[in-house]
Amino acid sequence: MLLKNDFKRYRYLIRLHTICTIAFIIRFIVLCTDLSSAKNDSIAFPVVILLLEIGSSFITFLANILYVFLRYFGLILFESDREKVGCCSQHFAWSLSTLTCIRCECYQEHPQFVLITRFSVLILFEIIRFIAFILACVCANRYGPIGLGYAILAAFSLVPAVVLLIVEYLHHHRIWSHYRPNTASDEKIVYATEHMRFLPLAITNDQQTSHWQHSRCDKGNACLSRNLYHVIIFHSGNTRYPPGQTKDHQIVVGFHQTSHVAAYAIAQSELKGSKTGWIGPGIYFATSLDHTEFKANKFGAYICAKVDLGKTKRITDPSQWSTADHHDTVYYEHPRGADEFCVRSPRQIRSWIILIDQDPNVPFLQEKGNAPLSSGKYVEDPIEDINYSGCLF
Ligand SMILES: [Zn+2]
Repeated sequence: MLLKNDFKRYRYLIRLHTICTIAFIIRFIVLCTDLSSAKNDSIAFPVVILLLEIGSSFITFLANILYVFLRYFGLILFESDREKVGCCSQHFAWSLSTLTCIRCECYQEHPQFVLITRFSVLILFEIIRFIAFILACVCANRYGPIGLGYAILAAFSLVPAVVLLIVEYLHHHRIWSHYRPNTASDEKIVYATEHMRFLPLAITNDQQTSHWQHSRCDKGNACLSRNLYHVIIFHSGNTRYPPGQTKDHQIVVGFHQTSHVAAYAIAQSELKGSKTGWIGPGIYFATSLDHTEFKANKFGAYICAKVDLGKTKRITDPSQWSTADHHDTVYYEHPRGADEFCVRSPRQIRSWIILIDQDPNVPFLQEKGNAPLSSGKYVEDPIEDINYSGCLF
């Protein structure tokens, strides 16, 4: 299916963009011929059409050339220690090439809008081209047979353009809405209301290599945002979200690592607490993504949850948890910073996003007794992240 096969879909995108580019070059040549042959009283029509084409297809044409250039030469141009070439940053160059350089402040909280921007810009360009086509149809008889030729060419060009928009939409939909770790069954899955979505670990901040680009929140540990998308995309795995000192009912972000199988089951039900534990019964969370590595016994899937701590008991020695009878959460302040908290009830968990490691260390998982998915594999729905080069953040 087209949605699951990232390479196939990407190849369609390349072909469709190439067809649209060739169609634009032919239309451009025809328009220039029109301009030279148009009579004085009708020259305004091809000029307006030319301007509309330059404002839409020509911009996409330039962006696509820049994209191909960055894809093949970007790694040489922007070495890992060189973020800028002249006054152009790597981030800006990729944004320009993917038509996502118009950014709103709200994208920091809702990074999935970046792809929607690209899609919207492409739709806008198609509307402009459609206006050019209508104008050409209306006035074709005013500037001779070549004008009619442009109108026919523009009509045919609309077909690949519409298909291109559909494939572009599927490309974006795949990563933000369709991706899930287990695709062995075609059954309709009903997810828990707290489950927001699965995302591949590759899009988290630390994993963003030259394929994905680096995106960082300037505020670092001082950032007050508790939006899960923001935390995952714009902060590092070692950013900590410990609760403050005094307030009850604080909303914090907690991290919990488990296996792909368990994560898939949790997404359909709820996070269940353990009956016992070293700071009491309940659901255990680390205060940063990295710290889950030291606390987990199942690996490969990271649950990033927004948690209401309720009434919190702070302890500095694990043996003190038994004094927290009337508290909703026990927060253990570890002397070396690897702190954690345990919430007593699943109802305290408001929402979560589950990150799936696409490239887990299988011998390590086997050694730790992690069960594979029902198909016998550890990763069943791999995302070919290179196909999303530069077009996300
Ligand atoms: Zn931030």
